[in-house]
Amino acid sequence: MMCGITGTPGTGKTSVAGDLTRRGFPVLHLSDTISEYVIGKDEERDTGIIDEERWAAEFVLYEGFVEGHLAHLLPCDRIVVLRCRPDILMERLKTRGYGEEKIRENALAEALDVILIETVDSFSPEQIYELDTTDKSTAECSMITGQFSKGELPASFGTLDWSSYIGMIE
Ligand code: ADP
Ligand code: MN
Repeated sequence: MMCGITGTPGTGKTSVAGDLTRRGFPVLHLSDTISEYVIGKDEERDTGIIDEERWAAEFVLYEGFVEGHLAHLLPCDRIVVLRCRPDILMERLKTRGYGEEKIRENALAEALDVILIETVDSFSPEQIYELDTTDKSTAECSMITGQFSKGELPASFGTLDWSSYIGMIE
């Protein structure tokens, strides 16, 4: 069973993954698997450009949790999409030292449900759990993620609406 943990940067993927590791679950950080697939540099965003298609195609299935903002490109059995209210996400990214443009870009992507939409496009409804981390601790999020991965919680998504934040970000 491979369970993905995806979401916009700052939604808490690595934090949840850290808690799952602490609880003894096998966890793979996808950022550790992309070095061979860097095909350029995005100067504007100060990040590497990844050949996502080749990376996903050559990915060797993992028994456990796979964590990263590209997890939904992999053939996961279940996928958890972490969410965070855009204004709070902006605060989290600011604390993390992100520049204004990067903060704006990620908050907008979150307000527009970009990763959820990509996930819904390639998974069936019963595979998806959308988890609002805004008012939850990492431990609580990790507990829910673990339960969903084992089929102890039913699938759930599509109840959040952050479209009212769009105007606030631009
Ligand atoms: P991601 O891996 O999705 O980019 P991180 O786990 O690195 O996100 O978390 C980004 C920031 O948000 C960190 O500063 C972290 O401490 C904080 N954070 C993560 N999860 C939560 C949470 N559930 N509640 C409050 N802050 C959180
Ligand atoms: Mn991370």
